[in-house]
Amino acid sequence: MNYHVLTLFPDMVTDGLHTSIIGRAVEKGILTVEAINIRDYTKEKHGHVDDAPYGGGAGMVMQAAPVCDAYEALCARLGKRPRVLYMTPQGQVFNQSIARELAGEEELVFLCGHYEGIDERALEMIVTDYLSVGDYVLTGGELPAMVMIDCISRLIPGVLNNDVSAEIESFHDNLLEYPQYTRPEIYEGQRVPEVLLSGHHKNIEIWRRQQSIRRTLERRPDLLENARLTEKERAYLKMLCEQ
Ligand code: SAM
Repeated sequence: MNYHVLTLFPDMVTDGLHTSIIGRAVEKGILTVEAINIRDYTKEKHGHVDDAPYGGGAGMVMQAAPVCDAYEALCARLGKRPRVLYMTPQGQVFNQSIARELAGEEELVFLCGHYEGIDERALEMIVTDYLSVGDYVLTGGELPAMVMIDCISRLIPGVLNNDVSAEIESFHDNLLEYPQYTRPEIYEGQRVPEVLLSGHHKNIEIWRRQQSIRRTLERRPDLLENARLTEKERAYLKMLCEQ
């Protein structure tokens, strides 16, 4: 997977994504992360990339030309026109299933706005997907792009040491993950649940699924509507709801 981030703050993106698991995946050559400075594509004398909004109002708007020129230069270099994901609070809220779909692409372009956003004409010309990280407003699209890159990358084979660990995490089957424990067995008088020490894999699996269902009911009941449950698990959920 090759990520190309169009931004006015390239250091923010490269500094944030070259550490830990994503950084190691970059070193291994499984991913590339390129931050393209939109400012490099301005033709204005003083390097301006923004201007006041037509019609008045507060703040500045990023101009169309440097954004489109940065994207066109990238397309010319790649010999193709990759999907452009515009980071915007007006977009579809990003989730695990969108991440799974995007993980199948070879190239992805993340377009980061700043100030009051980007001239609508540039968006109409190059954007294929409008994505948000949630119903709140941030100062720029860099953090949302980093959040999405991190999440998508975990689903790319070889990025996590253990490929199954992305398979059984929260949102798999539309359930939250079960509670996790590690050494010591007793901490401040609190014991690790007995079943986890039993070595009985089937019972551990059943316990974990039940914990997932219980936790999802407590914390994110909205997810349960589309959860994939067996008959027995449905009965367990019904019993919890009746308690
Ligand atoms: N005036 C814009 C509006 O009301 O829709 C908000 C502009 S915001 C201050 C500046 C930039 O931050 C946006 O262009 C976008 O790239 C990014 N941004 C802010 N909140 C976001 C969110 N929830 N998800 C994704 N990107 C966001």
